[in-house]
Amino acid sequence: MASITLNQLVKTYPDGFTAIKGVDLDIADGEFVILVGPSGCGKSTLLRMIVGLEDITDGELRIGDEVVNDKAPRDRDLAMVFQNYALYPHLTVYENIAFPLRLNKGQFSDEEIEQKVRRASALLELDEHLERKPANLSGGQRQRVAMGRAIVREAKAFLFDEPLSNLDAKLRGQMRTEIARLQRNLATTTVYVTHDQTEAMTLGDRVAVLRRGELQQVASPRGLYDQPLNLFVAGFIGSPPMNFLPGIVEGDVLRLPVVDVPMDDRLRTAVGDREIVIVGIRPDAFEDVDTLEGDRVRSGVTFEVDVDVTEWLGEVLYAYIPFETHEAVKDQLEELDRELDGEGMRSQLIIALDAASAVRPGEPAELWFDPASMHVFDPESGDNLTRSEERASTLEDEARDARQRALERARRRAERESAPA
Ligand code: ATP
Repeated sequence: MASITLNQLVKTYPDGFTAIKGVDLDIADGEFVILVGPSGCGKSTLLRMIVGLEDITDGELRIGDEVVNDKAPRDRDLAMVFQNYALYPHLTVYENIAFPLRLNKGQFSDEEIEQKVRRASALLELDEHLERKPANLSGGQRQRVAMGRAIVREAKAFLFDEPLSNLDAKLRGQMRTEIARLQRNLATTTVYVTHDQTEAMTLGDRVAVLRRGELQQVASPRGLYDQPLNLFVAGFIGSPPMNFLPGIVEGDVLRLPVVDVPMDDRLRTAVGDREIVIVGIRPDAFEDVDTLEGDRVRSGVTFEVDVDVTEWLGEVLYAYIPFETHEAVKDQLEELDRELDGEGMRSQLIIALDAASAVRPGEPAELWFDPASMHVFDPESGDNLTRSEERASTLEDEARDARQRALERARRRAERESAPA
């Protein structure tokens, strides 16, 4: 196991296109880091640079204390799990897992190989499939075989490139929790590339958000969700995405398309002398006044709107409310939507309400939100003007502590399991 350090990494492809533009990232020993971003942002390129499949144009890559820029992939001692698993169809599951151990003839005895394969297969619950061929396995089982191959090598780190994207939704969910459990038990440094929201938010200790080859923010999932650094991260993290509305400053009021919000000190400081800002409100920040407890109504603002469409999903009710955006922020928001692989839909609020809400399409509804949940962004730079460094650092401390406790539990479990009965 080892730490991985990226220091001002740059990748310029032979055709002159610079896909990675000076990325700094410290991945701690045992940490699980997700690389995420829209299509073409450079996630795979960065992963391939770490594993050695892509030359590094500039900057420094260290594994542990060693600079490995010029080391061949096999000498970096990292294990990569690909999207298509790269299994050998003519070999049994056992031999597929044992494959990396047989590469250097004589390095491991047959007993050692047996022991390592059995340990991996027990961890991955593949014991009863060891004699089968990959073609006869389900997608999830194949995925586990590919992971078994990474495990037996006892590599310094695992690198995953969208490993679940070929699986159906249900299996993805199962494999996701399996990978999370496995990583915690093995405590092997892991870098995982995905464009999937849920994987990014649920798997990693920290998530690194990339945009056009540049790192935007690296933080715990809660840190990204709660304290995004800018409009891009705010729009990328969260599903359904954060709502962005024009906010016109008029005296002590911030005028949104749906309601006027009186500005408190926090909002006044954030807005400064700007005349217009972009306001971000998460769908789950809204409530239906009819299902809200009395006390909370007073702590926020209420407004009446006509609901266009609703979607009731059993545990949540989504309500869609069209609004007119403002010319001054239209271009910026459309550009953001394109970058986030959006479909350029007309501007509408997406609101996630309690499933018990009686809000119905075509009918007026009285809604509520707390202005404290509003994010305010600079319309030019996209910087989050309401971000609290203090809150952000508390969230990171909490995430680190939770992780330490999980690793400690895994260590104790491993000790118990290896102790003689
Ligand atoms: P996706 O999620 O679509 O796989 P990604 O974030 O993994 O995207 P990369 O595959 O890393 O993106 O590509 C990053 C950028 O580099 C893209 O704009 C891509 O077109 C470009 N690129 C990739 N490979 C090459 C190459 N061999 N030569 C030139 N440009 C390349």
